[in-house]
Order: sequence, then C-alpha cells, then structure tokens
Amino acid sequence: MILAVSLLKNPSSPADGYRGRFAPSPTGPLHAGSLVAALGSWLDARKNGGKWLLRIEDLDTPRCIPGADQQIQAQLLACGLSWDEEPSYQSQRQELYQGALEQLNQLELLYPCSCSRQTIASTLAALGIETPRNQEMIYPGTCRPNQLETHSPELLKTSKVAWRLALPQYCHIEFEDLVLGHQSQNLNAEVGDFVLRRNDGLFTYQLAVVVDDAQQGITHIVRGEDLLSNTARQIHLQKILGYQTPQYLHLPLVLDEYGEKLSKKTLATQINTQDDKHSLAELRKAAQHLGLIDLPDGEHTTIAEWLLAATRVWR
Ligand code: GLU
Repeated sequence: MILAVSLLKNPSSPADGYRGRFAPSPTGPLHAGSLVAALGSWLDARKNGGKWLLRIEDLDTPRCIPGADQQIQAQLLACGLSWDEEPSYQSQRQELYQGALEQLNQLELLYPCSCSRQTIASTLAALGIETPRNQEMIYPGTCRPNQLETHSPELLKTSKVAWRLALPQYCHIEFEDLVLGHQSQNLNAEVGDFVLRRNDGLFTYQLAVVVDDAQQGITHIVRGEDLLSNTARQIHLQKILGYQTPQYLHLPLVLDEYGEKLSKKTLATQINTQDDKHSLAELRKAAQHLGLIDLPDGEHTTIAEWLLAATRVWR
C-alpha cells in the first residue's frame, strides 16, 4: 500500500479560528534567525485575525539554559510581539506524550532499539550509504523485528532503550508549503524508522511537536526552513494518531558569513532589545530578510505603528 498524503487547503478558514504558534527551544536568547521565525509567525497570525501562542520547547533538558525562557519572553515583548493565552512548557506535558506513545504501542507500531550512533554509522558504511555532513543518518532497520507487537506499557515507560516508529513499507508523504509549494519525501528512503522516545527516557521533538500542535488546535505552522525536512515525519505521525494536518509555511533561514544557519551552536549573538530604537532596528532587519517592503523607516516610528504596517504588507 502506498501511503500518499496529499494535502488540500486546510478546511478551517481564518474566520473559524486561525491558531499559530512560536515554539522556541530555551537553549539561549533570541538571535536574528529566531526573530525571523517569531516575526513571520506573528505577522501571519495577526494578518489572519488569528491567535498566536508561545510554546517553550524545553524537552531536551540537558540543552536548556535556565532563565532562557524568561529572556525570550522579555525580548518578544520588547519587540511588541505579544502572545495570546498562557505560554505552555513541554516539560509539563509529559503525560500527553506518553499517552500518544501508548496509542502507537496499541497499534503495534513501536519497537525497542539499542543501536548506538556508531552501530548505525558502521551498518550504513557496510551498505555503502554515506551520510552528508549535517544530515541525520537513515536508520537501516537493524532492530526492527519481523513481527511487530504491542509491548507492556510498563516496559514502554521504564526501559532504557530507544523506541522507534515502524514505518509502513512505502511511506511517501506529500504536502503543499504555502511559500515553497509542493513538497514530497520518501520516509523509507530518506529517514527510516525514527525515534519517538530516546534511551535516556526523553520524548523526541517529532512526537512532542505533533502532540502539542494537535492538542493546542494549531491550524498554521510558520517556522524556519531548517525544519522543512521534519515536516513529512510530523504529517505521517498526525495521520496515524488521527490528528488534523495544519498548513505549513517555512521561512528563509538567516545564514552567517560562513553560510551556516544562525544558531546557538554557531554562537549567534542575541538580538539587542535594550530600548525601542534597538528593538525596532532588529525588527527591520528581520523584515528585510522576509522580503517585506514599503515599511515606515522614519526615526520616530513606534514599534506598534511599524508592526501594523508590517501586518498590512504581509503576504
Ligand atoms: N523548537 C524548535 C526550534 O527552536 C521549533 C519547533 C517548531 O517550530 O516546530 O527550532
């Protein structure tokens, strides 16, 4: 069976409830790249008369920096990017992820995996499959049993192994990105069975983001293009968990002078929001990156005026 998912326009029109979100990982303060994602998603929500939610993705606890969530919130507010509803924290939503994992377990779609990165790398090398730099390794299915089964919920909670999602034999996902157009990915060939719960017990981004977006009723996901290659996995998960698929819009990435994506890893400097003048200068840079033109450039323009004008010219 070929699982081909073709997404038509989301049936929910803005009038019956656009819900967008910004979902930063609190691994450091906002930098020019994350501000682009924040601004783009905020403008899209405001333009559509929708809600904009803030979700702190603090799942990968070892990488989170204490206080970064507060810093991000202060930076957003300094830029006039206010959110609707209480911010949510993934660290407080573990039971929801466990529930979804159990649902997949009942569907006989999970199996335990004890492969280290090294084992996967050598299996791939033996198969003559090279992994380009900065790309994830395709899982060659080493631990996948011939017969999938349901495991005891206790084992699923406590075992010190990773749990992978068994993909159907042909898993080809297609979707329309609102900016980039038609996208497709063959998950078998390009990703393989992927991990939903790591061997240290942490739920993975793929599972958490899908559960949260569904549970929070998110209709539009506007985020950086670095996440585009995750989208097919997320759509596949939405289908098997019985969730609606939101619309996707991936924004151009901000690259540094070496052509690398700006990130905390590349020590991107935080945006300067010390006063309105600096915050507005950061917003203007982000807008330029998004290709927004004809925005007020006067020295006395307020952030509120500028954001209103930016909302008018957005898409
Ligand atoms: N937490 C992710 C990040 O900071 C974003 C997740 C998403 O927008 O889906 O890169």
